[in-house]
Amino acid sequence: MTSERVTLRPEIAAMAPYQQGKPAAAEAFKLSSNENPFDPLPSVREAIAEASVNRYPDALAVALRERLAERFGVSAAQVQVGSGSVAVLSQLITAAASVGDEIVFSWRSFEAYPGLVAVAGATSVRVPNTPDERHDLDAMAAAITDRTRVVIVCSPNNPTGAIVTRDEFDAFMATVPASVLVVLDEAYIEFVTDPSAVRGTDVLHAHPNLVLLRTFSKAYGLAGLRVGYAVGPAYVMDAARAVAIPLSVIDAAQKAAIVSLDHEDELLERVTHLGALRDEIWQALVAQGWNSPRPHGNFIWLPTDERTLEAAEVFARHGIVVRALGEGVRISIGEREAVDNLLAAAAEVVRDL
Ligand SMILES: *Cc1c(COP(=O)(O)O)cnc(C)c1O
Repeated sequence: MTSERVTLRPEIAAMAPYQQGKPAAAEAFKLSSNENPFDPLPSVREAIAEASVNRYPDALAVALRERLAERFGVSAAQVQVGSGSVAVLSQLITAAASVGDEIVFSWRSFEAYPGLVAVAGATSVRVPNTPDERHDLDAMAAAITDRTRVVIVCSPNNPTGAIVTRDEFDAFMATVPASVLVVLDEAYIEFVTDPSAVRGTDVLHAHPNLVLLRTFSKAYGLAGLRVGYAVGPAYVMDAARAVAIPLSVIDAAQKAAIVSLDHEDELLERVTHLGALRDEIWQALVAQGWNSPRPHGNFIWLPTDERTLEAAEVFARHGIVVRALGEGVRISIGEREAVDNLLAAAAEVVRDL
């Protein structure tokens, strides 16, 4: 036996393995992964039960792509489906960027971005959020160089919950070179009620370098099945398909996604409920003295700075599993039964901050 190790890409060897939201203890509420607390609809369960297992799935997810194309007023060629929207984002980054290329995104934003960029061999350019935890789109535009291949805009932003407004987005897009791909990550768009927020569907057709990224994981409650999608120019979607690992989107996921679109009204009622609960919890937190940005997704951001790990422990003691992310904790909106414990823990933390 030799102690020699194989040679890995150093930037990959240096990466921390994926950190999942902690599993909740038996009596605890898992509010660490922005999951949907509702059980699947009976029709979704049926679709999953009927899905093919011994056969490979439809590699091109034709039925689902056609269905999505119809709703976005585009062709099926302008839709790419992946095993989670993170997979589609990875395809887009890999298709557009490699060693020496730059990907611009706000920070703090979605934890997955830096890793996807590193895997492509490209370089992350993180543009700090404004003091009120929003994207600084002027600074993001200023960060674009000849090396920039992709800019990711996340609205609502995970984990701070802030939106980009339509006006901000329009002004930003006017400054971005046509050769730079802009990905608008709308993982939480269904939870947005603010009329000033940018909506991808309103701006997609105005920008030939824009791709929308959406998911069935959050509002539609299919996180465990892994299905998300992008909508954008056909040649960009073709490039994403070219780098995708074929057959990753299983039949159960394709079928469950279609049934979810069939029963969208029922699912969006749940979204409305979660949005109302979010606003109620946020108001109670503000009343406790928290300086928390107004939330627009299915989660709330509490700035805890250097007390973050301590704060997460206080929540855990109250049976609430949160996500500790550097300068703050992110708390998902889940079961109503969790609210009393959540607020009791938050009151304890804010008192000591
Ligand atoms: C949850 C999330 C996604 C979606 O992930 P899936 O791979 O579709 O489950 C994408 N972007 C952001 C910002 C998210 O928070």
